[in-house]
Amino acid sequence: MTNLDQTTWFTEVSDRDGSAFSLRINKKLEEKQSPFQKVEMYETTDFGNLMIIDGCTMVTTRENFFYHEMISHPALYSHTNPKNVVIIGGGDCGTLREVLKHPAVETVHQIDIDAVVTEMALKYFPELCESNNDPRATVMFDDGIKFMADAAPESIDIIIVDGTDPVGPGEGLFNHAFYTSCLKALRSGGILVQQSESPLMHMPLLVEMRDAMQDVGFADLQTLPFPQPIYPSGLWSVTLARKDENFAGFREHDANSANFDTEYYNTGIHLGALATPNFMKRAFNK
Ligand code: SAM
Repeated sequence: MTNLDQTTWFTEVSDRDGSAFSLRINKKLEEKQSPFQKVEMYETTDFGNLMIIDGCTMVTTRENFFYHEMISHPALYSHTNPKNVVIIGGGDCGTLREVLKHPAVETVHQIDIDAVVTEMALKYFPELCESNNDPRATVMFDDGIKFMADAAPESIDIIIVDGTDPVGPGEGLFNHAFYTSCLKALRSGGILVQQSESPLMHMPLLVEMRDAMQDVGFADLQTLPFPQPIYPSGLWSVTLARKDENFAGFREHDANSANFDTEYYNTGIHLGALATPNFMKRAFNK
């Protein structure tokens, strides 16, 4: 058995999951302790640049498209007319870039608590930040929980919660109070979409999150699994929660005729992700 030398490998040890994941590195690029979290940047040998927040792998150049496309396009193509979008978290700006590919979108507010994440992204993932200066985009640094609590009622079409795991500053993005604020701020037909961890490793958390969304009054939930090579287990998910029954379903025709490029997302992927695997169905129906 080969032991991984810490000077040439970055390893995220996930104690809660009994697993670990390593990427081979050339060098550490930078490290900053912000008031909220420790942000580290590495250059890897095969995955491009790597961002770590509080010891957890967040983004690499090579594979971030799975996550950023799946947290954006299924929700945007499931809303009849997504004009006003809010992203909570998302400081690496990859989700913002995907959302702005949709011509129907008129405004996007991105609220990340930590300016250091965006500072690092601008430096080491410039391609993710290429739409930051789009006139429809507003990039803000504030607590997303407070932003949603203060949001005007019925003012948003889609809320995307692209946050960290439910520890540290991201903890309050998974509870009843936050979901109540989101429900109130959404217009009729609106959708809340949130990264919902690994269905394989974190099912109790996923079920708790879905229950909380339903408890506060969201009408319909869909959890879409997708591959996420650098996160624990390699299987991740997003959960879409609809404000009410006023929705048209997947705009498949529009998705088919999209005039922008994606690496992973297409109509077949979207339809496939709507098919819930049996182990997930069982857990959700308990
Ligand atoms: N998993 C993502 C990926 O692969 O691209 C990266 C997630 S990262 C962008 C999550 C972001 O949530 C971090 O930048 C962190 O600062 C932000 N965050 C955590 N708690 C927050 C809060 N309460 N309000 C706003 N942003 C928050």
